[in-house]
Amino acid sequence: MGVLSVILPAYNEELMVGKACRVLREILNNAGISYELVLVDDGSTDNTWEEIQKAGESDQNVMGVHFSRNFGKESAIFAGLAQAAGDVAAVMDCDLQHPPEKLLEMYRLWENGYEVIEGVKQSRGKESLIHKKSAGFFYNIMSRATGVDMQNASDFKMMDRRAVDSILSMPERNMFFRATSGWVGFKTAYVKFEVQEREAGESKWSSWSLVKYAFTNIVAFTTLPLQFVTLGGVVCLLLSLLLAVYSVVQYFAGHAVEGYTTILIMLLFIGSAVMMSLGIIGYYISKIYEEVKRRPRYIISQIMRGKEDISSQANQDVQ
Ligand code: UDP
Ligand code: MG
Repeated sequence: MGVLSVILPAYNEELMVGKACRVLREILNNAGISYELVLVDDGSTDNTWEEIQKAGESDQNVMGVHFSRNFGKESAIFAGLAQAAGDVAAVMDCDLQHPPEKLLEMYRLWENGYEVIEGVKQSRGKESLIHKKSAGFFYNIMSRATGVDMQNASDFKMMDRRAVDSILSMPERNMFFRATSGWVGFKTAYVKFEVQEREAGESKWSSWSLVKYAFTNIVAFTTLPLQFVTLGGVVCLLLSLLLAVYSVVQYFAGHAVEGYTTILIMLLFIGSAVMMSLGIIGYYISKIYEEVKRRPRYIISQIMRGKEDISSQANQDVQ
């Protein structure tokens, strides 16, 4: 028997926090699993924090972590993992789109010796076409880069203490949790689940934030785009060799090449290729800059266990 920590990142989820706690409590109590719920309020602007405190009043197993502002879901997950005291930790959305019953299945797999249990989406739930296509494109690149099928990967996972500790020991600030849990290795099992529909509140993802998320995570996880730059250079070189041969042949055949248009097109083409490459390299440099600043991943303004404020004793150190 091990204690299960369930980590629930919450951003503007006042309508769902209470319900998520009730549902989880009931399921885990019925299954006789000892647990703690770590709710991380990612700088919500609504009453999420009040709701978390309310949930803690009646339940000593509820822990609330309050961020000083919105740091994003990855940071919230990381903070939850850092505070979790259990032998095994699960991460799930607090809007109950990840079916809580699946926790039991994951827990049994953990008891049978699996150290990382990944939730795999069986269907993507209801999403707009643009959303689906852009997510598909992003995961395609990620799958190629990581060599792991990311198409149906999710943030719904359970991890043994050892896997949690190895994730916590990673120094990078920009972490792509979904792929990192696979990267650390360990004995892994997969559990399929259906994405449920959101009952209340709304999705925090606009199409634009998805694009940003995709770029950030591609850069955080792989250097593949830098190889595109090299590849582009090689293609340009081959083309210019062809053109050189053609021009020399033309020259000796007695007619000089018609110059102006060719030069104009080439200049524009190469100019834009160089600028795009610089952009890609620049993006990596900006990310390196963010990493070397060593800013904390998040700032905690308050931590509660049950109804007790433990901000002063809790481990706030985020290296
Ligand atoms: N979330 C968060 N910080 C953010 C955005 C979202 O902690 O900046 C949480 C949110 O409260 C939810 C989970 O991440 O528990 C998934 O968010 P959402 O339901 O909006 O995403 P979707 O399910 O639409 O992909
Ligand atoms: Mg959701």
